[in-house]
Amino acid sequence: MSEESKPTAKKSIIKKIHSTGPMRALMAEYFKELEVAAQTGEEKVAWCTSVGPAELLRAFGFRVYFPENHGALLGSSRMAADLIPAANAVGYSPDICSYLTSDVGSYLNRKTPLTRAFGMETVPKPDILVYNTNQCRDVQDWFSFYQREFDVPLCGIDTMRNVGEITRAHLDGLVAQHKALVPTLEEVTGTRFDPDRLKEVVRSSYQCTLAWKKVLRIAENVPSPITFFDGTIHMGPAVVLRGDDRAVAYYETLMAELEQRVAEGVGAVDDEALRFYWDGMPVWGKLRENAEFFGERRACVVASTYCNSWIFEDLGCDDPFEGMARAYTELFIVRNEPFKERYIEDMVRDYGISGIVYHDSKTCPNNANNRYGLPKRLADRLGIPYVMFQGDLNDLRLYSEEQTRTQFEALIEQITEQA
Ligand code: SF4
Repeated sequence: MSEESKPTAKKSIIKKIHSTGPMRALMAEYFKELEVAAQTGEEKVAWCTSVGPAELLRAFGFRVYFPENHGALLGSSRMAADLIPAANAVGYSPDICSYLTSDVGSYLNRKTPLTRAFGMETVPKPDILVYNTNQCRDVQDWFSFYQREFDVPLCGIDTMRNVGEITRAHLDGLVAQHKALVPTLEEVTGTRFDPDRLKEVVRSSYQCTLAWKKVLRIAENVPSPITFFDGTIHMGPAVVLRGDDRAVAYYETLMAELEQRVAEGVGAVDDEALRFYWDGMPVWGKLRENAEFFGERRACVVASTYCNSWIFEDLGCDDPFEGMARAYTELFIVRNEPFKERYIEDMVRDYGISGIVYHDSKTCPNNANNRYGLPKRLADRLGIPYVMFQGDLNDLRLYSEEQTRTQFEALIEQITEQA
């Protein structure tokens, strides 16, 4: 075949964010520290749920590892579908959280995306497992599996769900549960609790929240300099390094790049014409495809429930225990339908949204907000078009690209016709 007749690879429409380099370097540093801690035993390793009390763990000097972050890597690397059957074979249903099943499958198969990404042979072995059930019960069951495997302490916070107003009674119980973790953490680390250190870590975590919020809110600009799909990648430090000043510094770097785009009128999507809100989990194994699909149609997914889940403004509270109790309970996922409706309504207004995409993720009903009539109620009130698609965060066997694209096309057509 002559050079001229060779098919040329299609050029991706996705615009490169240059801060991705520093972010990857920071994530590599984070994983290296975990690996060294686990191998040498010089520092203790705590596994924590993604919206768990990471600040308290960091205040004790733990290196903190987040299995949900590993779950997302299993999804984005497309390793998940091959690993899930191993978890099913030991009794974990294919219908429960596919982060859980792919992570347990990864452990049973001794395969991890951390090998390719960061040269790590295995995930770092825990000295303690700490959960918060604010997002779902699955995290407790997930950590219980590892408690049996590693024979290390398992403890956590049991948070109520479907909450409207958060009351003093709720908070008192949660503050008490956070404080009740202290003796176990003292025993595992062999150190005394230092309230001043906790204040410092919570302050840093709060700074990280403010910086991450600024990054997300810059998408209110038209055109938006960032998409939801970019956000799912750049939220890494806010998830795994909040409470560590390096995360704050990273978001300052990213923000400078995004501000420059705004100043120059550069959008993440060329000739942006439509602006979408994404509710529910990302489809991790299809981030690129979905980003390209929308970008090619001059549509920018500018905001999401998911990326906003790592904004914890209540950490600004003077009392760090009260701050953690509030921050990890006032989350969208913990709240009732009227709260969620008001929240999305505000987002539609603030970001100038043209339509909403609801991802009904099969194995995570906790992050699927289309099942109790919310989309229709919002559409009736705001006149906002929407689409609901069936899929999954990690298990691509539950996602039909063709069908989903047809649905997205129909939504875009509907909006364009109405304009
Ligand atoms: S909230 Fe959903 S995705 Fe996250 S751990 Fe729970 S079931 Fe899994």
